[in-house]
Amino acid sequence: MLSKYVSQVNFNSYDEFIKSFEVRVPDNFNFAYDVVDEIARTTPDKVAIVWCNDKGEEAVFTFGQLKYYSDKAANFFKSVGIKKGDPVMLILKRRYEFWFCILALHKLGAVCIPATHLLTAKDIVYRNNAADIKMIVTVNEEDVIKHVEDAQKESPTLKFKALVGGSREGWYDFNSELEKADENFVRPTGEEATKNSDTSLIYFTSGTTGMPKMVQHDFTYPLGHILTAKYWQNVQEDGLHLTVADTGWAKAVWGKIYGQWTAGSAVFVYDYDKFVPKELLEVIVKYGVTTFCAPPTIYRFFIKEDLTKYDFSKLKYCVVAGEPLNPEVYNQFYKATGLKLMEGYGQTECTVALATYSWMDPKPGSMGKPSPGYDIDIVDENGNSCDVGEEGQIVIRTDKRIPPGMFNGYYRDEELTKKVWNNGIYYTGDMAWRDEDGYFWFVGRADDVIKSSGYRIGPFEVESALLEHPAVLECAITAVPDPIRGQIVKATVVLAKGYTAGDDLAKELQEHVKTVTAPYKYPRIIEFVDELPKTISGKIRRVEIREQDSK
Ligand code: ATP
Ligand code: MG
Repeated sequence: MLSKYVSQVNFNSYDEFIKSFEVRVPDNFNFAYDVVDEIARTTPDKVAIVWCNDKGEEAVFTFGQLKYYSDKAANFFKSVGIKKGDPVMLILKRRYEFWFCILALHKLGAVCIPATHLLTAKDIVYRNNAADIKMIVTVNEEDVIKHVEDAQKESPTLKFKALVGGSREGWYDFNSELEKADENFVRPTGEEATKNSDTSLIYFTSGTTGMPKMVQHDFTYPLGHILTAKYWQNVQEDGLHLTVADTGWAKAVWGKIYGQWTAGSAVFVYDYDKFVPKELLEVIVKYGVTTFCAPPTIYRFFIKEDLTKYDFSKLKYCVVAGEPLNPEVYNQFYKATGLKLMEGYGQTECTVALATYSWMDPKPGSMGKPSPGYDIDIVDENGNSCDVGEEGQIVIRTDKRIPPGMFNGYYRDEELTKKVWNNGIYYTGDMAWRDEDGYFWFVGRADDVIKSSGYRIGPFEVESALLEHPAVLECAITAVPDPIRGQIVKATVVLAKGYTAGDDLAKELQEHVKTVTAPYKYPRIIEFVDELPKTISGKIRRVEIREQDSK
């Protein structure tokens, strides 16, 4: 399957990879037919999804079954009145019906909008009206149902609602409709067929820095994730890949569908409500996950467990992205498991843009090097390329070519699109520097960088210093306005088990930072908290801490 879509499958070095790797984009590519149904035709019994939940329920789906269920789901959506181009929102957490739905919507050419169950009625109203959402499919949970029903009153375009795992007045019962639906869906032709440039998917960004933005992707997007899955996550033919992500976050399509299936790997889905490190580790071992991808926060909790208790002999490769990975976490995980965390960097707006690819030696704390097809640079405030060691903003140059998988702009927000993407340059909003070997080192989001007494301080470095202290489980560095210094550094700290907050410990942490990094960066204020404000994807929302502090 893979060789159909890439110029060459195997490479001997990063240099060869960069030079020769090319994605081939055929006309009218549609992932649901061209990958899923095609695998179902040739090897219907090949496993696509291994699913379990925190209640001990299990299910396995082959490609043959996925074709069957997605055809049925497409017929159901069609019978309801969903047509090509109609926006349908999926709030399905990690239920396996999510996969039936997204494939069905691709088959119809409808626009799939995955979202998180944490949305309030107000958030849903905003989304419904921003995207003219016509239908919502969601889980049978009281809170979500209430929010959707409340939102419907102020959402004139929302016509249909379907419930997975239950029935209720005013809602389609998705599972019984699926039973009834015809099992053959014929690929549309002519005007009804999808074109590469049609919108297939709209994702909201994580909302780490502010209101989530609606990122629009077209039908070629899945092919961009061959890079993500095959070459960064290093998924294997007939392997079992787990990416920890809610389906309402773009990371789900980075790690739970497109690239993995195209590269021949099955995906593992663990449907849980509360993240319990032990339980996640147990399912990884029990089901024999071979490749694993998670944000740093998951690894930060893992290293506090006794990892020697687990038999990781099946687990071959682990990657990390979404936030900066503190070197201390890398080192401790390596010491406990012998696995090197291979870091990647990207956004909802693109695919993996920088990574520590398998031919490279990881440098703990660095994101890695540019992906093939991505013309990445670091520029200063005047737009000039930065020298080695000089800090600036990461940009993607698109004047010569646009990498497959790059978004088509923010949905219905031309102004914002132009602001971040103009004159052939896409501005990521992230600050970094490059070393003499071409590795990229993350400094912080442009908004999070602190300016204190004329110094620029990247939160990541100070957070990493703090994390080296055994008392610190997690922490966030933010700026607090100060009349003399402009801004001063504040650390918000969650303590590891067995440590008690107090002035002595605060002093000790301050001294610790002064010894491991330049003293001017040490946090003058330390606040101990039980947990940090985070997005659904587990990212620390420094903006929330700043807002609270300025009240
Ligand atoms: P919003 O744009 O709404 O504030 P977000 O940027 O967190 O949310 P995502 O698209 O999920 O939404 O995340 C992309 C961002 O995650 C990147 O711009 C970067 O700041 C951060 N990120 C991803 N990978 C890494 C990494 N390896 N190291 C540091 N930061 C990373
Ligand atoms: Mg962003």
